[in-house]
Amino acid sequence: MNKPIRKAAVIGSGIMGSGIAAQLANAGIPCLLLDIVPKQLTEAETAKGYTLDHPAVRNRLATAAIAHLSKIKPAPLYDESFAQRITPGNLEDHLALISEVDWVIEVVVENLDVKKQLLATVEQHWKPGIVISSNTSGISINAMVEGRSEEFRKHFLGTHFFNPPRYMKLIEVIPGIETDPSLVKELSRFCERKLGKTVVLAKDTPNFIANRIGTFGLLVTLREMAEKGYTVEEVDAVTGPAMGRPKSATFRTLDLVGLDTFVHVADNVFANVDDEAEKKVFEAPEVLKEMVTRRWLGEKTGQGFYKKI
Ligand code: NAD
Repeated sequence: MNKPIRKAAVIGSGIMGSGIAAQLANAGIPCLLLDIVPKQLTEAETAKGYTLDHPAVRNRLATAAIAHLSKIKPAPLYDESFAQRITPGNLEDHLALISEVDWVIEVVVENLDVKKQLLATVEQHWKPGIVISSNTSGISINAMVEGRSEEFRKHFLGTHFFNPPRYMKLIEVIPGIETDPSLVKELSRFCERKLGKTVVLAKDTPNFIANRIGTFGLLVTLREMAEKGYTVEEVDAVTGPAMGRPKSATFRTLDLVGLDTFVHVADNVFANVDDEAEKKVFEAPEVLKEMVTRRWLGEKTGQGFYKKI
């Protein structure tokens, strides 16, 4: 790492991107938070007479994400001014600002093509010395930077934060084949000292360590339930608070993660392992796919295994 991390850019302002930006800001690191430009107006925007090129509309996604995070009760474990250190906006209008930060974190949807395309765009505004990482849950780090320059690949690695970043201390750091080893060491030290994380180094295998084991467990649980007739409530009762795990009941966690993200994560192992027995376990069950089709994605849409009331 050529220079210390003093300023960051987080691309993707969903569940994880907004949480990661908040954590960086809370650690005193000013942070850009960038998302796509919305393609449709909301009812409120239409009522105000806005058009799609109004700045409030173009920057809406990241702005709304930070407003949402600021309202979480009980208050996030952050000093109240954390939001002032985040500049929300859309990626399209603010691409040039990427050259001014020290660390860019990609936190967009779990899809290899989308991530590859985004990194190609970022490279056009990237300068050697800027660290670039992905928060992917398990997509190959090496595959994401195919086609990028050698210099870019040296500065690229996986930094897998867990949900929600403000509570979860674990971070998996995943070097690619060409990542500069000194960058891996220094960024890991930064995550430990500045963000209070516990770093686990992982190899670039499908879903790394935590999601290889975690996804396996969840999919086996779903199959056992179907076979044995266990209910969602019963499984959560034996995996949640009563077991000394206040926030980790199985289906509450799935609703927090997002069912669409979970299916992408399972599909990633399914598509990338050769062993037939393992492939079979990682095949997402129809019930999950059906829920995604219905947009029962969990907390982000208000309905998942539980309904938000
Ligand atoms: P999300 O669906 O909540 O948010 C994704 C955001 O990315 C959306 O706001 C979307 O508009 C934006 N986006 C999509 N394409 C974009 C582009 N080209 N440029 C800019 N923004 C773009 O997803 P999430 O749960 O925050 O997951 C993001 C990443 O973090 C994924 O790779 C996921 O696997 C990983 N992750 C998720 C969790 C979890 O529990 N949800 C945990 C760890 C890691």
